[in-house]
Amino acid sequence: MRTAEIRQKFLGFFESKNHQVVASSPLVPGNDPTIMFTVAGMVQFKDVFLGNEKRSYTRATTSQKCLRAGGKHNDLENVGYTARHHTFFEMLGNFSFGDYFKRDAITYAWEFLTSPAWLGLPKEKLMVTVYATDDEAYKIWNEEVGLPPERIVRIGDNKGAPYASDNFWTMGDTGPCGPCTEIFYDHGADVAGGPPGSPDEDGDRFMEIWNNVFMQFNRDESGTLHPLPKPSVDTGMGLERLSTVLQHVKSNYETDILSSLVRAAARETGVPYSQDVPSLKVIADHIRACTFLVADGVLPSNEGRGYVLRRIVRRAIRHGYKLGQKGLFFHKLVPDVTATMGDAYPQLLADQDRIVAALRHEEEQFARTLDIGMALLEKSLEGGKNQLDGKTAFTLHSTYGFPIDLTADVCRERNVQVDMAGYERELAEEQERGRAAGKFNAAANVEYSGADTAFEGYDKSRSEAKVLALYKDG
Ligand code: ATP
Ligand code: MG
Ligand code: MG
Ligand code: MG
Repeated sequence: MRTAEIRQKFLGFFESKNHQVVASSPLVPGNDPTIMFTVAGMVQFKDVFLGNEKRSYTRATTSQKCLRAGGKHNDLENVGYTARHHTFFEMLGNFSFGDYFKRDAITYAWEFLTSPAWLGLPKEKLMVTVYATDDEAYKIWNEEVGLPPERIVRIGDNKGAPYASDNFWTMGDTGPCGPCTEIFYDHGADVAGGPPGSPDEDGDRFMEIWNNVFMQFNRDESGTLHPLPKPSVDTGMGLERLSTVLQHVKSNYETDILSSLVRAAARETGVPYSQDVPSLKVIADHIRACTFLVADGVLPSNEGRGYVLRRIVRRAIRHGYKLGQKGLFFHKLVPDVTATMGDAYPQLLADQDRIVAALRHEEEQFARTLDIGMALLEKSLEGGKNQLDGKTAFTLHSTYGFPIDLTADVCRERNVQVDMAGYERELAEEQERGRAAGKFNAAANVEYSGADTAFEGYDKSRSEAKVLALYKDG
């Protein structure tokens, strides 16, 4: 089943259950200062969940464009390393605004996945998780759906805080949230990874396909949970992951759309097509993200959303460079994205020339410094060093336009650590010098905050992310 068909099937199923089919909202959320990008299907319905907005329907279904490359949900570092993560992806969702709750959410999901009239997936390949204390969801899975206890995992609060576990879904630092139940597909013993809740759950064997969130709370700035006016449902299923399952492959990059883009990346970088070359997958992922970002009005820049786009473009270009492509190539992949996704998103076709021009411009700009920056980086790592000093990381950023995550990406491939603390020090000193010289440009240098607080939402435990939160190119 082609991805386009799967998308339609999902929407058709929920339409048959009286859901309103609603169009995807843009990647840049309108009027929401708490997040930078649309990270899930529920984002466009946030105010409906909160009870601040009324719609003419209480059930909706969407295929939503999502980007997870910044803020609380950030998968940039996973791309190229797992079979299932993208920066840009489509999330299929069904929503209940104070209409149905746990029972229907679970039984609809199960019917869609396993009924021969719909997807007909083998039941024995599926397993689920429930929130540790959610006996109600457990009972529905066990007694009504008939799943045996060994295939229902309670995910506890193993990270300490009462609601820190994976089975309590939150949009960002604030906003609608609640316990969830997730559905996993077992790709079989020849894929590495353990079942959810096990120490090696992070592998690709048990692929999470669908998350059903029982929206019950609104989290405020202090972290306090306030009950929502009406218990609701928010679900999200990765379209690419579902394609992987239905196309009988093991990786999203082998499915129809993504494999065409991996092939296109091979063509433009001049290397043979292969699923074993991570850089080709990174480029395939990134060209989709960049094409859709520009289509939705983002342009490369030194701050905010534009800086996230710049980071993704430059990261992709560096991967091309790694494959030996020293010329311009990245923007030439835009028509491949349009060819694979233009039917579902006609806006791409209409906008293609502008998107190509924007990405070519960014590519030309980075081409001036990439080579010499890479030479500096290589030289600094000579002699088998296992750490890159902060000063070099800073010079790469300030003089050669290497976003810190790009430098970290190169270093990670070589098992080299970046001295992030040293880098941060250099950055702070530079800002201090700027301030002293009276040239400090607040807009370009301060932490991204105020109107768009998403950068502060990076997982504070990850030092690279912390640096990114503070980091500006200016
Ligand atoms: P994972 O644990 O695999 O990172 P998640 O729990 O972070 O996924 P959710 O926030 O629950 O993901 O999002 C709902 C669904 O969207 C997931 O079950 C998955 O199918 C899909 N999804 C999430 N992140 C990505 C991604 N980066 N690329 C592709 N699909 C994704
Ligand atoms: Mg995730
Ligand atoms: Mg998960
Ligand atoms: Mg999840």
